[in-house]
Amino acid sequence: MSEHQGVSQKRWGHLRKVLERPGPFSHPDFEPSSEILDFIMTTCKLLVIGAGGLGCELLKDLALMGFKQIHVIDMDTIELSNLNRQFLFRQEDIGSSKAEVAASFINRKVKGCQVTPHFCKIQDYDETFYRQFHLVVCGLDSIVARRWINGMLISLLNYEDGTLDQTSIIPMIDGGTEGFKGHARVILPGVSACIDCTLDLYPPQITYPLCTIANTPRLPEHCIEYVKIIQWPKENPWGSLIDGDDPQHILWIYEKSLERSTQFNIVGVTYRLVQGVVKNIIPAVASTNAVIAAMCATEVFKLATSCCVPLNNYLVFNDVDGIYTYTFEAEKKENCLACSQIPQTLLIQDPEQMKLKNLLDVFCESAAYQMKNPGLTTYINGKNKTLYISTIKNIEEKTRENLTKTLLELGLQDGSEIMVADLTSPNVLSVRLKFASKNVDT
Ligand SMILES: [Zn+2]
Repeated sequence: MSEHQGVSQKRWGHLRKVLERPGPFSHPDFEPSSEILDFIMTTCKLLVIGAGGLGCELLKDLALMGFKQIHVIDMDTIELSNLNRQFLFRQEDIGSSKAEVAASFINRKVKGCQVTPHFCKIQDYDETFYRQFHLVVCGLDSIVARRWINGMLISLLNYEDGTLDQTSIIPMIDGGTEGFKGHARVILPGVSACIDCTLDLYPPQITYPLCTIANTPRLPEHCIEYVKIIQWPKENPWGSLIDGDDPQHILWIYEKSLERSTQFNIVGVTYRLVQGVVKNIIPAVASTNAVIAAMCATEVFKLATSCCVPLNNYLVFNDVDGIYTYTFEAEKKENCLACSQIPQTLLIQDPEQMKLKNLLDVFCESAAYQMKNPGLTTYINGKNKTLYISTIKNIEEKTRENLTKTLLELGLQDGSEIMVADLTSPNVLSVRLKFASKNVDT
């Protein structure tokens, strides 16, 4: 054996122990073989979405595990505040693309690894791009982006006579962190719960009840919110808008919050906390990212090699106070918007009163849809009709007057089909309106 081969044997020795012999945790279908390591190193193609806190950890973990064909996509550039935890970046990289710098760092440090960067939005690519991967790993901080890629992977599924073609499944491993909390989950599109199946796990931003803020504050955050929501608009010290990046604004809110907290014997109002609350920042914790990324990378390895049974299917992690983890099986939602293939119906209680803008509110505010900027079209007498689209300026102007019309005035009827396009999915959602029948006294 040459010296080089000896080094190579040692370098992958630990993986060989897992891949070339069976063990008590092996997947029932697992057949130990030296070809599995070859598959990881030569054939298996991964996509990492996000090159931030989680993304840096993921790229490092996967590259050191032997994966060589890795693509990374991120639209962001490097900022000074990233450098404490996004360890693939240096001071001189500020302003450069995260994906590009991360890729070149890994390629330089890990021999044989070929990371391909994509400095763009995930929405810039279509299905031909996503279809090339064996697995997709997400290290994202945006629910909209998660839902979009989830929808994309679902749209790649092939059904033959209603049966899912297993070879069309691209598993998605999703990691997320928020301060000292995080999650890792495995999604088999079309088979297990998808992002949209569990939308209620991602509640809209935390808000404190106004009565608590106004009357019974208990937390430093309540005092800051009070100044932000009630005192600022009254006094408008620097105009009506708060600029979270303006130190004068933050200082003013800090001083007023401190006064209020003293009044209620609450401790803990600091300048940093004020900044955090005003800008809605949850501090990123490097160790949480490291743990979640390691869990995700392990799941990638298990799915790519079948050496072990994968996570089923959702793990929560919390190290606020000690370390706590819990695993449960998130369930597929029977009428999921994204993965169910069941036509959606929307019950309209009062079609004579309901205006188009009320319908838009339903798509944005109801827990089941949580859309961002939906555009609506329909068919009337077999012809395509645009109801409202806000994202294209001249169409917005032409359709704005529809917002104040009722559904009946727009020609919509019981059973009408509405096509909804939104940032949260690459696919257009079709929704059938069901008008509630009036109660008739008999
Ligand atoms: Zn689903």
